[in-house]
Amino acid sequence: MSDPSNARDIDRSRMAVRDEVAIRIIGMNKWYGSFHVLRDIDLTVHVGERIVVCGPSGSGKSTLIRCINRLEEHQSGSIVVDGIELSSDLKNIDKVRSEVGMVFQHFNLFPHLTILENCTLAPIWVRKVSQKEAVETAMHFLEKVRIPEQALKYPGQLSGGQQQRVAIARALCMRPKIMLFDEPTSALDPEMIKEVLDTMIALAEDGMTMICVTHEMGFARQVANRVIFMDQGQIVEQNVPEAFFNSPQSERTRLFLSQIL
Ligand code: ADP
Ligand code: MG
Repeated sequence: MSDPSNARDIDRSRMAVRDEVAIRIIGMNKWYGSFHVLRDIDLTVHVGERIVVCGPSGSGKSTLIRCINRLEEHQSGSIVVDGIELSSDLKNIDKVRSEVGMVFQHFNLFPHLTILENCTLAPIWVRKVSQKEAVETAMHFLEKVRIPEQALKYPGQLSGGQQQRVAIARALCMRPKIMLFDEPTSALDPEMIKEVLDTMIALAEDGMTMICVTHEMGFARQVANRVIFMDQGQIVEQNVPEAFFNSPQSERTRLFLSQIL
């Protein structure tokens, strides 16, 4: 776990939470076959929010964020992302996916493509931008994540931390309005966790709307404006970080925090 005491100061000047709604989930339920994995989820995320989702393994955190860009389908209730309702309408799914970037635990880079090609592929084929513009955008974001010098290498030549920063840059190349992170540092060696968290902090400072599934509670305290605790497919509790950590309301939250802090 990262140590919040050695964290740098955060520039909060562009981190305001706005009135506009980025994501609204109402009464959402999801089953895997007969297994009821998400139960009556209600969640509103405003533009500019930085939400950390935590909870025990198997509580439904990944499923929840995968429902937000329709990597998983929900069976009841509604999910509206930037005004677009997620239904079986493929046009809507494409629109939402182009606005929502996702970063996974295991990077999921294309191993046979260079870093630069990983970053330009979707903008060229999905967004239909020119090769020149795609390369410029890719280099801009590779500089943002501080590895422009790796552009012509292949993923296998990079460290885990560098690969994860490429995955973040690749998502940003699609110019998303919202970023979803699913345990982005869980597969990394400890010395690489900080460089990835620093990249995420920089994104927060740019005002990005983010939902981060993570157990990096130092990051949660520093960056999140809200922490959500899930257990057994439900949102059990949510609060601003200080109250969440200092006075958790439910016994399940207290138990979870006592195990990870
Ligand atoms: P978390 O991310 O909190 O660990 P998940 O959302 O991955 O939880 O999983 C929630 C529950 O759903 C777990 O019990 C898991 O085994 C189950 N599950 C996840 N994916 C599938 C799937 N594709 N099919 C069936 N069950 C699944
Ligand atoms: Mg998960």
